[in-house]
Amino acid sequence: MFILAFILKHNIIITEMLATILHKGKTLKLDFFNPIDISMPLHADASCTSAWYVPPIKIEPVKMGNWVGDVKQGGSVNFRTITFNPHGNGTHTECVGHISKEDYSINKCLTRFIFLAELITVSPETLENGDSVITENIVKQILENKKSEALIIRTLSNSSAKLNTQYSNTNPTYLSKDAITYILSLGYEHLLIDMPSVDKEVDNGVLAAHHAFWEYPHNTQAQRTITEMIYVPNHIVDGSYILNMQIASFENDASPSKPILYKIN
Ligand SMILES: [Zn+2]
Repeated sequence: MFILAFILKHNIIITEMLATILHKGKTLKLDFFNPIDISMPLHADASCTSAWYVPPIKIEPVKMGNWVGDVKQGGSVNFRTITFNPHGNGTHTECVGHISKEDYSINKCLTRFIFLAELITVSPETLENGDSVITENIVKQILENKKSEALIIRTLSNSSAKLNTQYSNTNPTYLSKDAITYILSLGYEHLLIDMPSVDKEVDNGVLAAHHAFWEYPHNTQAQRTITEMIYVPNHIVDGSYILNMQIASFENDASPSKPILYKIN
């Protein structure tokens, strides 16, 4: 109480909120006042990143008779309806429900929200057919058997144009099935990537990487999640972080998400 009174009296600005976390026998220190947001802002502008031929996000005021949900237009409040597709419009986190006949919801599959995470930067390999692929070899050389809970993949080149890319019909970078198997062998259960999918855009519905990741349908691992279309700015260095995974509580295979990183000091 005395300290609080002192802070208020002297108008001291608090610039840190330090936490010590004990996890698997290790002590980790972080500062909650320094979050690193690796989600994309979602806005209604047509330039906002999209994939899978979905239209831009719509954010529109509700109109009922003479009433409009827009204060600038004379309404009492801003009251807007948002229309979007979680897979096509920006950062989202999905569960096995994305590829399963059975209903799985991200709101039920994701039951923890803080994870130990490893951020890596990869330079994908270009195959003879022109595909840009993150192979097992690439991931192996960078990770060198480093284990963690969540793997965050930043692909090169990494300009801020990723925030305004229309990925439909561009055959974006994807992961090989073997890369997924290797990542799982190290115990990772959450995969985050800055591309619209872990699979090739047009693969006749095979989705080999998605199936390998969730081991669906033979040994389904419903607790695992994939997060797509993140954006990790270049000034964030590779290494270990604490990840706070935030979703909206949609009972659906996927939800827009806001992954936040905290540097481990
Ligand atoms: Zn998706």
